[in-house]
Amino acid sequence: MKQFKTEGKKLLDLMINSIYTNKEIFLRELISNASDALDKLSFEGLTDESKRVDETLAIDLSFDKDARTITVADNGIGMTAEELDENLGTIAHSGSQEFKRQNADAQGDAVDIIGQFGVGFYSSFMVAKRVRVVSRALGEDVAHAWESDGVSGYSIDEVAEADLPEALRGERAHGTQITLFLRDSTEEDDTDQFLSEWKLRDLVRQYSNYVRYPIRMMVTKS
Ligand code: ADP
Ligand code: MG
Repeated sequence: MKQFKTEGKKLLDLMINSIYTNKEIFLRELISNASDALDKLSFEGLTDESKRVDETLAIDLSFDKDARTITVADNGIGMTAEELDENLGTIAHSGSQEFKRQNADAQGDAVDIIGQFGVGFYSSFMVAKRVRVVSRALGEDVAHAWESDGVSGYSIDEVAEADLPEALRGERAHGTQITLFLRDSTEEDDTDQFLSEWKLRDLVRQYSNYVRYPIRMMVTKS
């Protein structure tokens, strides 16, 4: 188990444990990261012909009511094991740095500040007790999974081909699939609300309207 590089640990605690009312912005953050990953892929394709892909670039959103999971998947640039480590192992990327700066002079009302700008990937832990990120970087012959409870640290493991989601199988596949295992729902912390097609569609409409890739809702019967 690897430890998070510490500078942002307090931020993470604050975010996860705050009574922050705007927890729903986690979806906006995941979709915006997926969109960034698709942008990076398009850009690579422009500058390097061998990296050009011809499939539809899209973001797939799904949920499983019984398993209490929400999944955001993209067929973007993907991440190598090193990139998973660097990008997700360091709390306090762009948005959170800014948060820390502002937080220094806004102690009491800290939680409100979170809503003012992108807080990034870690906002997932406001609603999830565990997050699993399976990713295959473009051109890599192996895929890896990053997994964490957001507090104790994280692990990165190679994923056997047969255990990969279909979209990431095969050496030509690329992209990232992020699964949130939601916290138990309580009266004060209603996570059940997110296990609804209507709610997810509403959040996409509300927060991710600007995204220039199709966001496809994958409906699974249960
Ligand atoms: P930011 O988006 O502001 O850089 P985040 O915390 O949202 O910060 O994400 C951290 C980093 O993790 C991103 O910069 C990116 O490198 C990587 N990342 C997150 N989600 C994805 C994804 N779906 N595909 C590829 N890389 C990703
Ligand atoms: Mg982001």
